[in-house]
Amino acid sequence: MNPAPRYDAHCHYHHEPIASRWAEMLVSLNELNVRGAVVCGTAPDDWDAVDALADRHTWVTPAFGIHPWYLHGATGDWKAQLRTRLDRPGAVVGEIGIDHGRDASEWATQEDVFVWQLEEAARRNLPACIHCVRADGRLLELLESHDRPACGYLLHGTHASAEMTRRFVELGAWLSYSANTLSRDRVRKAIRAAPIDRVLIETDAPYMPPEPCVSRYELAGDDDRRYNHPANLAVGYERAALALKMDIDELAARVAENYAALFGAMDNIK
Ligand SMILES: [Zn+2]
Repeated sequence: MNPAPRYDAHCHYHHEPIASRWAEMLVSLNELNVRGAVVCGTAPDDWDAVDALADRHTWVTPAFGIHPWYLHGATGDWKAQLRTRLDRPGAVVGEIGIDHGRDASEWATQEDVFVWQLEEAARRNLPACIHCVRADGRLLELLESHDRPACGYLLHGTHASAEMTRRFVELGAWLSYSANTLSRDRVRKAIRAAPIDRVLIETDAPYMPPEPCVSRYELAGDDDRRYNHPANLAVGYERAALALKMDIDELAARVAENYAALFGAMDNIK
């Protein structure tokens, strides 16, 4: 019998070393019964690859945006290019955000690029997939003071405290957790503070692998770095179920509903 359907709320399946081993990855994803994944672009130079993956698989929700690490992409006519990508039916906005782990000299540009994309998501009422590192307070201020998509937005890989999680939810957030982030006690407390109808699970694959002791699927690249195999999505579900003291099939059913609620997924997953 197939396991209950699984959904990856945030990933980069178009990046290496996943992309060149896609046939093999698909076998693992099918075994897990993965029925939906939000594949996030990071800058204009990877948007074609996101588009191509969504052309091949109707269960892939394509996300287009400029990530705060790739501000070099925010040049020329990037706004017009992004608007064209977002005209694709089923497309969403991401990965966008702010990152105070980066040099402070970048923060002002990060905010300009983030806010423009957030407001474009609001204008189109598309979900936005948001990256936030060491800047939860500032993100909250930006969300409070600008237009947000009425349909909601996703705080991906969030490390927000329980208290901050509640405040983000008041502003329309869905939260996604991974095998990696759930290794932290603070994140396990936060997931318990999040309303169950706002909880999603992600991998961020090929990035953010879980610790070697819990990782079930290893993925090697051309360098010494540890990569995250998409099938570690299974570990994320298990860790979340444990933290929430929920039956895993019950959690999977809730996550399926939540994924559909945010990403309007029934149009995409066929
Ligand atoms: Zn990401």
